[in-house]
Amino acid sequence: MIQSFKLNVQAFGQKMPVYLFQVDDVLVDTGPYSMKNEVRKIIKELPIKRVIHTHHHEDHTGNSAWIERFYSIPQWIHPLGVEKCNLSTKLPFYRAMFWHNRSSFHPIALQHNLFKTEHHTFQIVHTPGHAEDHIVLIDEEKGICLSGDLYLFHSPTSNFSFESVPELIRSINKTLSYSFQEVYCSHQGHLKHGRKLLEQKRDYLLRLQDSVTQAHMEGKSAKEIRKHLLPKNKLFQYISFFENSPTHTVKSIIKEIS
Ligand SMILES: [Zn+2]
Repeated sequence: MIQSFKLNVQAFGQKMPVYLFQVDDVLVDTGPYSMKNEVRKIIKELPIKRVIHTHHHEDHTGNSAWIERFYSIPQWIHPLGVEKCNLSTKLPFYRAMFWHNRSSFHPIALQHNLFKTEHHTFQIVHTPGHAEDHIVLIDEEKGICLSGDLYLFHSPTSNFSFESVPELIRSINKTLSYSFQEVYCSHQGHLKHGRKLLEQKRDYLLRLQDSVTQAHMEGKSAKEIRKHLLPKNKLFQYISFFENSPTHTVKSIIKEIS
C-alpha cells in the first residue's frame, strides 16, 4: 500500500501541487522547503526509517537537510545527484518563490538496481531528460511505478533549459519496457492508468521530434520552428523569465541531430 500526501504550493496566483509518497518504512522525496511545516507534521506521524529521492530538484529535496539533522536515517539519491545535494541551492527568483532555497545535505549514492521494502521490491531505473540524476522506481509484481517528474503532463509545449526531449523519449521508452499499469507522479499523484498516459506523452514527444527534425532539415531556424510549431507563451514562461520556454524544447531536439 502506497500512501500519498498532497502539498498545495502557491505562488504568483498559480497552484502547483507536490506529492510525497510513503512505501512501508520509506519516504519517497521530501517536498519543497516552502512546505516545511506540513512536511514535518507528516514525517513525525509516519514510521519513516529511510528516504529515497527521485532527483535533486528543490521541490523533491527541500526537507532532507531537516531530516538529516533530526533523524539519523539513511537518505539515497542517484550518484549524479550527490554533489548537487552537498550544496545549498541558489535558485532563480521564481523558483525560490514557489519552493524556497534549501540547505545542503549528504545523501548516499545509490549503488544497486534493487530497492526492497517489507511489501515491495523496486527496480531502480535511471531516467535522465528532466534531470541527469532522475530515477523511477518500478515494482513489476505489484504493477506500479513511482515516476518522480518523468510524466508531469501528457503533452508539454515547453521545457526547462536543463531538459532534453530526445533524452526524455529514451527514458520513457526504457520505463515502458518494464511491466506496470499504475503511476505515482510527484505533481499529479496516483494515476491509475499511468502507463497509458506515459505512452501518450512518448507518442506526442515523438511526433514533435519528427516535426522539428523535418523543419530543421528544410533549413528552418530554431526561432522559425518554434514560431510555427509552438507559437504560444504561457504565463509560466514569463514568470520563469523563459528558463522554461518552447525554445528549449526545439533546441534540445536540434542539438541531437546537428
Ligand atoms: Zn524536477
